[in-house]
Amino acid sequence: MNGPIPGTVEVAVRHILSDRTTGFLTRTRTITWKDGLFRVRRPASGKQSVELICPVCDASLLAEVRTEARARRTGAVLLVLAALSAIVFVAACAYAFHEGGRTLPEGQSLPALFPVSVVSIFVTFVAAPVLLLRGRRHNGVTMLDAPKPRRRHAIIPVRG
Ligand SMILES: [Zn+2]
Repeated sequence: MNGPIPGTVEVAVRHILSDRTTGFLTRTRTITWKDGLFRVRRPASGKQSVELICPVCDASLLAEVRTEARARRTGAVLLVLAALSAIVFVAACAYAFHEGGRTLPEGQSLPALFPVSVVSIFVTFVAAPVLLLRGRRHNGVTMLDAPKPRRRHAIIPVRG
């Protein structure tokens, strides 16, 4: 590897060999895969479809490549959403802790916002790290289509 080449982006075509979840009380997910590296040329503007051939099974995957400026913008938007999720998470935690910890007078129930804040905690707890990871790794290449066992393939960003 000679580092990033302007106007191109490196991605890995991931062929999932097996995806097994074992165990009952403590579930362990074991995924094995094989990656094939590709260098994809970015379009001068807009987006472009490219065909990538899986080196393991010869499946043809259709990917969409966007310009670097567009990829950076999308990545930045994802990072902003991640930050917003983190803020909502903290605010919802503070609110739920405050309301849940109060001793309510006889016959009074918790405000309607309480269950909303609990749901927000769970949603943002999952969303924030996912958005952060996606935003940091976003390279403007997305998988459009793959033959039958689509979920057995993935296109993974490679850091230059
Ligand atoms: Zn394959």
